[in-house]
Amino acid sequence: MSTNIYQPEVVHLQSLNNLFIEMTAKNCNQRCKHCYIDFPMYKKEIDYINIETIRQAINDTMNEDVECIYLTGAEPMTHPDFNAILRLCLKRTNVCICTNGSFINEKKARFLKRVEEESTNEIIFKISIDHYEEVKNDDIRYRGSFRQAIFALKHLLKYSFNPIITVTNYYNLSEQELIQGFGELFIHNDFDLDKSNLQIIPWHDKNSQISENVSNICGCFDCQFGRILTVNGVYSCPFLANDYRGRCGSSFVDYNKKSSLETSFCNTCMLAKKQMFSIDFSQFV
Ligand code: SF4
Repeated sequence: MSTNIYQPEVVHLQSLNNLFIEMTAKNCNQRCKHCYIDFPMYKKEIDYINIETIRQAINDTMNEDVECIYLTGAEPMTHPDFNAILRLCLKRTNVCICTNGSFINEKKARFLKRVEEESTNEIIFKISIDHYEEVKNDDIRYRGSFRQAIFALKHLLKYSFNPIITVTNYYNLSEQELIQGFGELFIHNDFDLDKSNLQIIPWHDKNSQISENVSNICGCFDCQFGRILTVNGVYSCPFLANDYRGRCGSSFVDYNKKSSLETSFCNTCMLAKKQMFSIDFSQFV
């Protein structure tokens, strides 16, 4: 009798270059239709990560080659200790703030530049905009979110930051169309940005089932070069934060360096053949 047991692909952490910190799992001032997070119906949940948990993680990973700490969420800038956490992380390495941009105005951008100048490391911004047309972007994100993001971009550029626009390709457009559309948006707004400032990632439909079993370990995935810290412990990647299938341990003292690619999220990564959350720094060289 033949038994067909499904064996998922397994990948190993090659190097802990990217340390993601989930500042909050559920707090965001937007409710994007296509977000992979399941938001609660009620307004506020107090689920912010404690600064001492982050300090401990930074100490526990001192011997790892962490190149960038990513402050993620939901919306990381809702965290009440955001500024203190940013300063703490900057003491260790470069910090990427993954945000919808709605908390950034002139005063905040000026303050962030001052914080960066106090450090030898760099602050990088990933700002979410999902379509180069305001109506299409706001239809899936939040009314007014396009203008807020453009407003944030203008102020970040004024203070000499080099933000990256993260596009979740909800409309399934060709890369060429997105590059052209965003290129025109940059020119129109006098932004000195080019296509290296665009990170296009496929949309993961969290309600989809695995329709096609991909077993194609070509390309590289976030779980090969990073881990995410949440209030509940350490997980393989932001997609699998707080999901038992991505659990790697309670702290960085001893954590799992293998990931079984068995979820529909993993399928999205394997089809995309690239890292979905981390920055490809090679393009800036
Ligand atoms: S979702 Fe992607 S990054 Fe996360 S464990 Fe699966 S393949 Fe790795």
